[in-house]
Amino acid sequence: MKIIDLRSDTVTKPTQIMREAMLNAIVGDDVYQDDPTVIRLEKMAAEMVGKESALFVPSGTFGNQLALLTHTNRGDEVILEANCHIKKYEVAGAAVIAGVQLNSIEGVKGEMDLSKIKQAIRSEDIHFPKTSLICLENATGLGTLLSLDYMEKVANIAKEADIHIHLDGARVFNAATALNVDALEICKHVDSVMFCLSKGLCAPIGSMLAGSKKFINKARKNRKLMGGGMRQVGIVAACGIISLEKMSKRLTIDHENAFYLADKLEQIPGFHVDRERLNINMVFVTVDDNINFPENYSELLFEKGIKVNGYRGEEMRFVTHNDIERSDIDYFVNILKTII
Ligand SMILES: *Cc1c(COP(=O)(O)O)cnc(C)c1O
Repeated sequence: MKIIDLRSDTVTKPTQIMREAMLNAIVGDDVYQDDPTVIRLEKMAAEMVGKESALFVPSGTFGNQLALLTHTNRGDEVILEANCHIKKYEVAGAAVIAGVQLNSIEGVKGEMDLSKIKQAIRSEDIHFPKTSLICLENATGLGTLLSLDYMEKVANIAKEADIHIHLDGARVFNAATALNVDALEICKHVDSVMFCLSKGLCAPIGSMLAGSKKFINKARKNRKLMGGGMRQVGIVAACGIISLEKMSKRLTIDHENAFYLADKLEQIPGFHVDRERLNINMVFVTVDDNINFPENYSELLFEKGIKVNGYRGEEMRFVTHNDIERSDIDYFVNILKTII
């Protein structure tokens, strides 16, 4: 029985072409910068986000924390949105690794008010830490997008104050697809960007950190410090190349499938899709209280071969990806109806 896994796009399996690429990858010791496959991936990644250099890292969390460590000094302050991944889901890594203080601003749909950003930037005062970085997230984990216009405005604020911007672009290619622009249009407003190969782009492992040549050289040494210097990692980088060449072009299918799923869910009485947050491959759903929808729905669905997460707050989240087809969505919605 096929398992239909709607928990996240992190569950995507490497494709057949990726498995063949792994088998045939030419490799070397990447700590000596001797791995031609990694070098090719890093060059390709840098070009696609419009930066001078890029670095292959083990995970998105690693890439974000490496960016913080490389942009800041211990005791600096970083401005970011209160619900962002770096603050909420990275085990307080910013406190442990870079040793920075996070100054978070509650945003609207992931967007911090511009005047609040300005106010948060510290002036020179014996009591104050130095503000050295702003972090943005696009697409956000809430399923929303930051517009290019908004990003440009934040970039102007940062420039004026002489501070850098790091973009948590775990799903930057989803954002680019939804905004109908190249990823580099999004990334031109930031100094560094991290994006994941291992989510909708289907690679088994890995993320990229991109920025200026100087920044990436420094990050390469910090990656070693963090234990992320990997050896014949071209075996994995070979998949990342396919992620960029092929899989980044097919995300539109995942987005269309998310819309398809949303339409079907809305046909169920008492089910509501948050349309404002329906932009990429995520569907956020709430159910009216008067509907007899079981609290343990994820267990009941699992018995039918469907994996979903339980409620996060009042809300359910379903994620489409390369291993989800329309027929899987039809099956899922039909089963869902039977458990109500
Ligand atoms: C998934 C994700 C990350 C972290 O990536 P991992 O590879 O899971 O460590 C960072 N930021 C955002 C917005 C994410 O969705």
